[in-house]
Amino acid sequence: MKNFCVQNKNDIFDYNVCGRMIVLSVLLAAVIVYSMLIGKNPAIQAFRYWLPLSGRTIVIDAGHGGIDGGTYHRDGTLEKNINLQVALKLKSFMEKRGANVIMTRMQDVALDRLNNKSEYRHKRDLIARADIINRSQPDIFISLHVNAEKSSANTRGPMVFYYRRNEESRRLADFIQKRLEEAYESSGQEIRQRKSLPNSTLFLLCNTDVPGVIAELGFITNPSDRQLLTSEVFQQKLSQYILYAVEDYFKNS
Ligand SMILES: [Zn+2]
Repeated sequence: MKNFCVQNKNDIFDYNVCGRMIVLSVLLAAVIVYSMLIGKNPAIQAFRYWLPLSGRTIVIDAGHGGIDGGTYHRDGTLEKNINLQVALKLKSFMEKRGANVIMTRMQDVALDRLNNKSEYRHKRDLIARADIINRSQPDIFISLHVNAEKSSANTRGPMVFYYRRNEESRRLADFIQKRLEEAYESSGQEIRQRKSLPNSTLFLLCNTDVPGVIAELGFITNPSDRQLLTSEVFQQKLSQYILYAVEDYFKNS
């Protein structure tokens, strides 16, 4: 019987067939692995059961949007865009790890049109976000924002807030604070280490009934932070480290 995998100098055809078979096998294996990770086939979806965030529902809230740009810098940088860019990257990371992700927004839109529970546009926007969280009852929510300190351009780094009476939120906030600082450090940035911050006034924290945090990713008013926060590479890194924090949180629950 002819062995296709032994090159015969007199038979270039067999050698080409052998090479193609190897390439096809590698491609087939890649397609199978890819399908298992993100495919929609119900049989293959069962594989997701084994992923670290399988069975977890997570709401990602990209703060602000549409008419509400959030904080800003005179060079045209708007908080709302950074929040959404990081949120979309985080969604992708989390889904690959098996999570069911619910986004409060996927585009540059405000959410005030979703209810008429207040005469104030900004309040309606916040109520809509809290409604999405309370209706979907996720395991956790993460609300992404960017900070500003107009009086001091030196202030920089991440700050994570949690509702002071929720112990699980504190635990999640601690992991995210620590991992966000690691994201900065692993990019060669020296930043002051902080503890996560208890809060009892921020609307989203006070009006939701599942563990969650507001993560301020850095300061738009600090030139180094601003440069990092608008860079695709660093946004990717922040998302990766938030994912690590979420996995830390569930591993230890
Ligand atoms: Zn904000």
